[in-house]
This record gives sequence, C-alpha cells and structure tokens, in this order.
Amino acid sequence: MDQSSSDSRAELHEAPAPLRSSRRAAAGADDLRRAEARLEAVLECLADAVLSIDEKGVVVAVNAAAGTLFCCSGAALLGVEAATLLPESRLAAGDRRSHGLARRPDGSTFPIALTLNETRGDSRLRIAVIRDLTEQRAGEALLCELRAELAYAGRLAAMGELAAALAHEINQPFSAIATYVRTARWLLQRKPKQTAEIEDILDKAGAQAMRAGDIVRRLREFVTRGESVKTVQSLSTLVEEAKSLGVAGARHVGAQVCVAAKAEHDEVLADRVQIQQVIVNLMRNAVEAMDGAARRELSLSTSAADGFARLDVADTGHGLKDGGGALFEPFRSTKATGMGIGLSISRSIVEAHGGRIWAEPNPQGGAIFSFTLPLAERASP
Ligand code: ADP
Repeated sequence: MDQSSSDSRAELHEAPAPLRSSRRAAAGADDLRRAEARLEAVLECLADAVLSIDEKGVVVAVNAAAGTLFCCSGAALLGVEAATLLPESRLAAGDRRSHGLARRPDGSTFPIALTLNETRGDSRLRIAVIRDLTEQRAGEALLCELRAELAYAGRLAAMGELAAALAHEINQPFSAIATYVRTARWLLQRKPKQTAEIEDILDKAGAQAMRAGDIVRRLREFVTRGESVKTVQSLSTLVEEAKSLGVAGARHVGAQVCVAAKAEHDEVLADRVQIQQVIVNLMRNAVEAMDGAARRELSLSTSAADGFARLDVADTGHGLKDGGGALFEPFRSTKATGMGIGLSISRSIVEAHGGRIWAEPNPQGGAIFSFTLPLAERASP
C-alpha cells in the first residue's frame, strides 16, 4: 500500500479514541452514529457505484448507484465475488486508479474508471469506487467522427478548387506517353535495328504511366472517406507524397517548389491522409499567396528536435496580414472566393495528433507556416 492511499483513508472509518467517562462514551457513540448517517447519505447520492469487498474478495455492501450501473438490484450484488464484476487483474494488482471493463451479472460489459482503497482496522475491507465511462467514450467517439467528417469535407472542398490544376497534372504524363509511343512506332518502322533505343523509350513511357497512376491513386485516397487510422510514417515521406497534389496550381502561378531540408529520423504516429491534407492546404495557400509576387519560391523543410518532428512551409508571397494568430479561426479569409476553413481544419487535425501549428513572417518576405507532431517513440503507448 503506498503512502498516498493511506493518507486519504476516510476519516469516517476510523474507530473513536478511548473514552474516559460514560457521558463521553455516550457522546462518542452519538458522534459515531451521526458520522455513519452522514457517510450513508453521501454514498447513496453518489453517481459512482461503491462496492465494499471483504478479505475473501466477496461484495459485502453496495450503494444505490451500484444497482443502477450493474443493471440489477443492489441486493443481487451482495455475496458475489468482486472478480466476476470488476477487471480481475486490476483488483489483483491493487492499482489505486485504473481503467478497464466491468461485467454485469447479465454478462454485458461497460468501460469504467476504478478507484480502490482499503479500510484500516481489524476486518480489512477494500472499497471499490466505479465510474461508468460509457457516455464519456460515446462523446469521444462522436467528437472523433465529427472531426473526421470535417476533415473529409475539407478534402472535398480542396479537391473542388484544385480540380482544373489536377486534370492538367494528370494530363502531362499521358501526353508524354503518347509522344513516346509515337516515337517508338516511328523507330520500329524506320530503324528497327535500334532496339536499345526503342527499349529505352518504352521504359520511359512505362515510367510516365506509373506516375499518372500514382497521382490518380493519391487522389483517390485523398477523397475516400475512410476511417482515421494512425500508423508510423516518416513526415518527409508524407511531404513527398502530398507534393504531387500540393504543387498542382503552382505551375500556373509560376512558382518553384523545392524540398530544402529533410530530417533523418522523423517518424510520427499519424493518419496519413489527414496529415497530407494539412500539407496540401499549406502548399495551396502558399502558392496562392505568391500569385503575382516578384519572387515565387515555395520551400518545404522537415526537422526533428525535442521529441517532435516539424515541417516548415516557407513562401515569398504577400505575407501575413494580421500577425497570423487569427488565421486559424474558422471563416477567416482575405480571399474573394475563400471559405476560410482550410487552416482551421488543419489546426484541428494537427492538435488531434498532439501537435501544434502556427504562422510567422518569413525574414525573406512572405510567410512561414509550421506544424509539429510528436515523434513516434513519444506518441506510441
Ligand atoms: P482560405 O484559403 O479559404 O482563405 P484558409 O483557412 O486556408 O482559408 O486561410 C485563411 C487566410 O489565411 C487566407 O484567406 C489568407 O489571408 C491567410 N493565409 C493563409 N496562408 C497564407 C500564406 N501562405 N501567406 C499569407 N496569408 C496566408
């Protein structure tokens, strides 16, 4: 038994100090009765179930909430072995606070937070306080679902805006393939002996077909609803993969996109599609901010320090209008056709991953948008 648990034992369970006179004895008995009544009243109005468990592990007393939580009459719980109701391993380990699944007499289970304590005195009782986490879990699940829905809506909106640029992006490898095939055919007719050259051209056509396939695959992943699944990923790899979608549109603005630095160990526990969504959002904003600017350079760099991987998206555009903080609030847009939801969705995705996102002025002119994600060693349980 650790120090903290003995400190917090309920005063109500303590026997009264030895009494000298019968008057004091009577007063002491009165005090004790009052204390017991007070304890009973407290127990009965608690929303948490309280079970008293004897040394043999049998339930010997319960409060009203116990019957409600375990869906039976409180009396039905008396005489029952506690290990059939509560996570046995937690009981055995004697952890003061733990989580697990409780089992009702009808066999159904429910998530609980369990607090264990022990009484002092001759007959030791263990007191189990059980909080039902069903609603909390349902709330968390709903929040998670809503966040995923919002992220999905954001991806669809981004795709809508990028459609023309992406059509162009996918068209490029196809026209390259058409040119290679025409050249190979011409060579076969005119110089059929130049097999090495023909093979080379066919290889190039094959590579372009792979490139087109890749873009289509990423697009499909990007707009497929899919559940939020976190896996260990290198942030630099996510950046590489998102780039083909993010640079769409850069061409018509005439922007140059480069990966300036790459961290060596930047594995994070992340939902791949959602983090790519953040990267695409930041790249798209950067490209839009550079439309018409004298210098149009977009540079992406990843780094890792202090348990976090980090991405910086630096542009040379018109820069931040108002310090940068408010941009992450929903519906803040300075664009004529902007919805102002890209950055707020990005923030909710990054924060749900345990990271941080912010913007600051680029010393070279323009803006730098950065986010961090906990490195996988820290994020995994
Ligand atoms: P939208 O792009 O629809 O306006 P966002 O939430 O993506 O919505 O962006 C909100 C606002 O933040 C933009 O309207 C713009 O004013 C500002 N912003 C975003 N990225 C940049 C950037 N790279 N440089 C300057 N301003 C930016």
